[in-house]
Parts: sequence; structure tokens; C-alpha cells
Amino acid sequence: MDDIRNPAIPGHGATVAAGSVADTLAPPPAPMVPRRFAITRVRQDTRDTFTLLLEPLDGEPLRFAAGQFTMLHAFGVGEVPISIAGDPRGTDAGEPLEHTIRNVGAVTRALVNAAPGTEIGVRGPFGTTWDAADARGGDVVFVTGGIGLAPLRPAILDVLAERDAYGKVLLLYGSRTPDDILYGDEMRRWADLNDVNVQMTVDNAPYGYKGRVGFVTELIGRAGFDPRSAWAFVCGPEAMMRASAQALTARGVAANHIRMSMERSMKCGIGLCGHCQLRELFICVDGPVLSYDRLEPLMSVREL
Ligand SMILES: Cc1cc2nc3c(=O)[nH]c(=O)nc-3n(C[C@H](O)[C@H](O)[C@H](O)COP(=O)(O)OP(=O)(O)OC[C@H]3O[C@@H](n4cnc5c(N)ncnc54)[C@H](O)[C@@H]3O)c2cc1C
Repeated sequence: MDDIRNPAIPGHGATVAAGSVADTLAPPPAPMVPRRFAITRVRQDTRDTFTLLLEPLDGEPLRFAAGQFTMLHAFGVGEVPISIAGDPRGTDAGEPLEHTIRNVGAVTRALVNAAPGTEIGVRGPFGTTWDAADARGGDVVFVTGGIGLAPLRPAILDVLAERDAYGKVLLLYGSRTPDDILYGDEMRRWADLNDVNVQMTVDNAPYGYKGRVGFVTELIGRAGFDPRSAWAFVCGPEAMMRASAQALTARGVAANHIRMSMERSMKCGIGLCGHCQLRELFICVDGPVLSYDRLEPLMSVREL
């Protein structure tokens, strides 16, 4: 079974994915105390999804590894876990901290509607990492649906930062409708400039739509990769991840070469409160990124 590292837990392996500027991530010194960040920009990506760009008010960049999340606190409203969507190399280069957020309820609504300059609280980074560098030398398949592309983006950028170290790189992306496609321009750039085989599909399309219609899992069967060397990184709704993992293993991809990012309701983010418990796992510290060989028995139990 693969050990996916959680840099925030002492002894859990402090090394982050190669290719990241941060070789070592110390645990946050006071994990329950939010740091103050200012929203510098809110970019609307789709009808209901927005990317928040944040600057630390204390001037200290927040270093993270691909796959990790923060707890974002809209003061007076509440706190939610959101994956970091930016480039792990970007923080030291002075880039703002990026989170892509779907407006689904009270806290996410407050965050995406906040005016530039608004202060919010940020705790973290927390959780395990994609460690996409483990796939070096093999083919890499990213399978994602909807806003699941946001938590995967840092891992994609890790791979593209060392593109020559990998074989074929595929991005299989599904969204509900053509209007819900996230980071469309960037996906086209990855295809044109970085030799990424991007395949998109939508669940529903208006009359006359020229692209592919169908579920993203249907792309896996005929995608051009070598299952013996391939690693897959999967993020999206749980039913989609389960079906993707089944399609990948049916193609011959080893279960311990499939990683996925799990979502559960979270409060503390540091393995204390138990809100995110999935049988023996606390998703906030044992996850969110987990290997499918560990998840498969849990995902096959209904309602767990
Ligand atoms: C590790 C992790 C990373 C996440 N990363 C992102 C991200 O990058 N971008 C993003 O938009 N969202 C992400 N989420 C989901 C996000 O945390 C929830 O959408 C948010 O907590 C909803 O809070 P709210 O107060 O706005 O809505 P609420 O009123 O709490 O919920 C509104 C609706 O969303 C559902 N919901 C609430 N929490 C979750 C959840 N964790 N997963 C699925 N559905 C949920 C509720 O059941 C309800 O239907 C992540 C969750 C986890 C655990």
C-alpha cells in the first residue's frame, strides 16, 4: 500500500512532491488560529464558480503541496474546507494564493461575493498530497469532473513543470454542460503547449453542440495510455470517482496507482473533531488524497 504523505503530521513524511519549491513543509504552528488574508481579486469562472486570489496580510507566503486544502473563514458566517488550486511553485514567486469555489451555501456564497480588499481567515495547509512525482517514467491520467479540476490543478502543474519526466499525459474532463467547463482556456494551452491529451465531455448539451456528450468515465475505456505504467489521479463527485476507478482497474491500472481526493464534512481540519470520519480514517489528516487500494473496501459500503 502506498504511503501518501501528510506534511502536517510529524513523522508522516515531510517531503513534498519533487518539482515543488518547498522541499519541506512544517506543520502550521497554530493550526486552529486563522491567518489574515485579503482578497485581491475574485474571478468568475462559470455561472456558479469563482476563483479567489488571496494575499497574506502578514507578508508570509503560505507554502503548500499539491492536493492540500485550507479552512477558509468568512468572518461572521463560518469556515469551509477548500482545496488550494494554485501552482505550488507560485507562492515563493509572489503569486497570490488561489482557491476555486463553487457557490453552494452560506459560507461559499459569502466568500465568492466578498469585495476585493475583504479580509478572510485562512488555516492550513492541511491534508495529504497527490505526490504526482511517483508517476515519473510512466503515463499519467487525470480524470476529473466539474469543479474537481480545481484540486487537481496543482498536481497537473507539478507534472507539467517536469513534462519530460513522464510518458503520455491525459486529462479526461467531464462537466454538466458546455457552460460549466472550468479553466477552458488553460486546458487548451496545456494541449497546445505541453503535449497533454485533453478529452472533454459534457453530460448535457444544447442542440447543435459539436463536442462530445456523455459521462467522463466513458472516455477511460478507449483512452490512449499504457495501463501497465500508468498512474491515475481522480477528483470529482464520489460516484464518478468510484466508476472511474472501476474503469481504470478494468483497463489494468493497479489499484495502488490510482489516487483520489475525498470530501467529507469537516470542522477542525486537524483530526480532532471526527466530523470527517470514514470508518477508521479521518479524511482531514489521512486524506483528502488517498490511494484506491485503501479506499475501495470503504467505497463499496453504501452510505459510509
Ligand atoms: C478537503 C475538501 C476540499 C474541498 N475543496 C473544494 C474546492 O476546491 N472548491 C469547492 O467549491 N468546494 C470544495 N469543497 C467543498 C466545500 O467545502 C463545500 O462546498 C462547503 O463546505 C459548503 O459550505 P457552505 O456553507 O457554502 O454550504 P452548506 O450550506 O454547508 O452546504 C450547501 C450544500 O453543499 C453540500 N456540501 C457541504 N459540504 C460539502 C462537501 N464537503 N462535499 C460535498 N458537498 C458538500 C451540502 O450537503 C449542501 O447540499 C471541499 C471539501 C473538502 C472536504
